[in-house]
Amino acid sequence: MTEITAPKSPVTTAEFADGIREQLKYGQGVTPEQATPADVYVASSLVVRHYLQDAWFKTQQDMVNGKTKAVGYLSAEFLIGKQLRNALLNAGMLDQFDEAVESLGFDPQTVVDAEYEPALGNGGLGRLAACYVDSLASLGVPAFGYGIQYRYGIFRQEFDSEGRQVEKPEYWLANEEPWGHVDYNRSQKVSFGGTVVEENGRKVWKPAWSVRAVPVDYMVPGYASGRVDTLRLWSARSYDEFDLLTFNKSEYLDAVKPKVEAENISKILYPEDSTPQGKRLRLEQQYFFVAASIQDVIRVFYPGQSNPDLTTLPDKITFQLNDTHPVIGIPELMRVLIDEYGYDWATAWDITTKTFNYTCHTLLPEALEVWPADLIGELLPRHLEIINEINDHFLEELKGKTRDKEKIERMRIVTNEENPKVRMAYLATAGGSHVNGVAELHSQLLKDVTLRDFSDLYPDKFTNVTNGVTPRRFIRLANPRLSNLITEGLGTDKWLSDLEMLKGLEPLAKDDEFVKKFAAVKQANKEDFAAYAKREYGFELDPNTMFNSMIKRLHEYKRQSLKILALIAKYADIKSGKVSVDDVLPRTVIFGAKSAPGYYLAKMTIQLINNVARVVNNDPDIKGKLHVYYPWNYNVRLAQHLIPATDLDEQISQAGKEASGTGNMKFALNGALTVGTLDGANVEIRERVGAENFFLFGMTVDEVDALYAQGYHPAVYYERDPRLKAAIDMVADGTFSNGDRNTYAPLVADWLTKDWFMTLADFTAYCDIQGEIEALYRDPLEWNRKALLNVANSGYFSSDRAIQDYLDKIWHTGPLA
Ligand SMILES: *Cc1c(COP(=O)(O)O)cnc(C)c1O
Repeated sequence: MTEITAPKSPVTTAEFADGIREQLKYGQGVTPEQATPADVYVASSLVVRHYLQDAWFKTQQDMVNGKTKAVGYLSAEFLIGKQLRNALLNAGMLDQFDEAVESLGFDPQTVVDAEYEPALGNGGLGRLAACYVDSLASLGVPAFGYGIQYRYGIFRQEFDSEGRQVEKPEYWLANEEPWGHVDYNRSQKVSFGGTVVEENGRKVWKPAWSVRAVPVDYMVPGYASGRVDTLRLWSARSYDEFDLLTFNKSEYLDAVKPKVEAENISKILYPEDSTPQGKRLRLEQQYFFVAASIQDVIRVFYPGQSNPDLTTLPDKITFQLNDTHPVIGIPELMRVLIDEYGYDWATAWDITTKTFNYTCHTLLPEALEVWPADLIGELLPRHLEIINEINDHFLEELKGKTRDKEKIERMRIVTNEENPKVRMAYLATAGGSHVNGVAELHSQLLKDVTLRDFSDLYPDKFTNVTNGVTPRRFIRLANPRLSNLITEGLGTDKWLSDLEMLKGLEPLAKDDEFVKKFAAVKQANKEDFAAYAKREYGFELDPNTMFNSMIKRLHEYKRQSLKILALIAKYADIKSGKVSVDDVLPRTVIFGAKSAPGYYLAKMTIQLINNVARVVNNDPDIKGKLHVYYPWNYNVRLAQHLIPATDLDEQISQAGKEASGTGNMKFALNGALTVGTLDGANVEIRERVGAENFFLFGMTVDEVDALYAQGYHPAVYYERDPRLKAAIDMVADGTFSNGDRNTYAPLVADWLTKDWFMTLADFTAYCDIQGEIEALYRDPLEWNRKALLNVANSGYFSSDRAIQDYLDKIWHTGPLA
């Protein structure tokens, strides 16, 4: 007997079908006969919204009336993925949808495929925010995700005939988008520029221009919780819109200009990941969404009150700053409290520091945001004053804590130089209650290195919350076969809201019959992915080879170079006859990665991978033993298809550089084995799944540091390992550029003279462990046993657990009763 705890559908199939017909008729204005799959997609989505509406109202009412503090998750990115199937799952309507759509003569998959993926994030940080709002709702915690509805999200990646990345605009809003409800009646005004004057002894900001922030609301249905939270993404509109009508033609163009400028604020997502660009528009974006969100919170929690008691704000909501992008919210709340509501500095500071918390996502010093004070002064003159005052108060406070003058100088929020800069990470640390890293190792390094002075003087502020991923999207939706097998193995489906229950699968790893079923799931998923890759990309994957994936942003520290060099080395060995092709384990290597458009070496690496794929896949000497594929435009959808089909995943960043990673968690939960370094959450994954079920290689953080200190010379490694020499020589000699030796010269030069992330130093260890990997893979039962043990022991990496940690350690709140 299997226990079923999945939510019960609020509708019958017939009611769902009627709902679709009704929406088609009155919403889309088409008959079922005229309807396209896209029409049915829109109609179905609106039916789902319809059935979520009451739970949404109730969640908001209970939040405003109840005693439970809400969570405001402030994030510049929410990489939410497609909505329809996820909402159907969480609301319990998957079957009713399938049957209703079929009864209308449509194929459910075609209908689901009509949805465009909202491209509102770059990578891990944005996906984390999406997993967290899912878990907040699923745990029944009242919450808002606050961010920006970018008109153009991250670019759509294509490859040209030379294998180079081409960035195309991804206009995901080109068609009707049924999930985001545009609420013009609850817009907020956000202002910029101008001057600060004194009036009656008070500071008054006289801004130069304003934009209208219009909320676009996405429902975030909890899984089986009966709760629906809100993702409120702001869209920038001009206040000139209405006036345009009254202008004559010649004035029209001038009038349009401010409109375009205002709307630019929510037009593009900065295509950067871990390197900030000192761009004015980026600061405008940050202030835009944070200012609108703070006003919104006051509107929601103190409805209709002209003189609210904002000392209660920290009891109503706690703000989590997802990295430094929303940190301008700290001076903004101070400004609102002091200038608009008349609080004194000390009271305002007390409210502010109790309301904010900060998650740091990096260790790369260049990724810690720093803004020129001049720029802040130009765009937000009153905020610059407040920041300077925060800095003064903070330095005073430090004097009471330490006599170390140098330390105090190092901790300045505003630097003491000719063109002062504002360090946003320091502002966040000083202006909030808690600071957390995103994996044990990362949180430790934050304390020891990045924010060391702060952790010395404020040790209690620092804590760790290891990241997690939602099992609803990344197991249940992505991998229905494995989900069914888990439910069969555990005798219940309750694991979907209590993922540590996966531990119950551990004994089944000794049961060969169960392991074979598990292997059959993987095989079927590989066949599915091969069909998908054929359909979407025209690739011919052989599902009887090992599927070896590396999907994540293209960045030097993540070291796609290491993977491609090892692959080239293998190819070189076969070509030179050192290795007989008949002995080679058949392997399909799959890359997925976008590079920031201006990131030269990353883009060259993409070109190299594509050309290695072209050469290797077409070389008859290889006899089909090695295949390389690079499906373009890696996004959540591709992740959902590829992860369940992967045998071996790559988490091979230089130790100390990947804060956590969440891709690693998704793979472990879907029964892939990982080859990885001791970095980020790999450390904790390995601890949990067992060292014998994880392929560890490479230098540790301490070894990396020692090597930097001693002086790193990559050419030494090139000379030392003939495999590495052969691989780099092959890139240099034009094998992958039709004989042109210049194409990859900058990449080769970087490897041999700089190699900041020590790819060459880890190369030998990485190649050596391949023997172990391949030997295990030749024993399918043992391989799958270990893969199953990865699933069984990865329940900790649920975003439900991560959110529970935030609730316990940082937010001090919980579910609505
Ligand atoms: C999970 C995920 C990421 C993060 O991957 P990492 O390997 O942790 O960098 C990035 N992009 C997408 C689409 C994801 O689903």
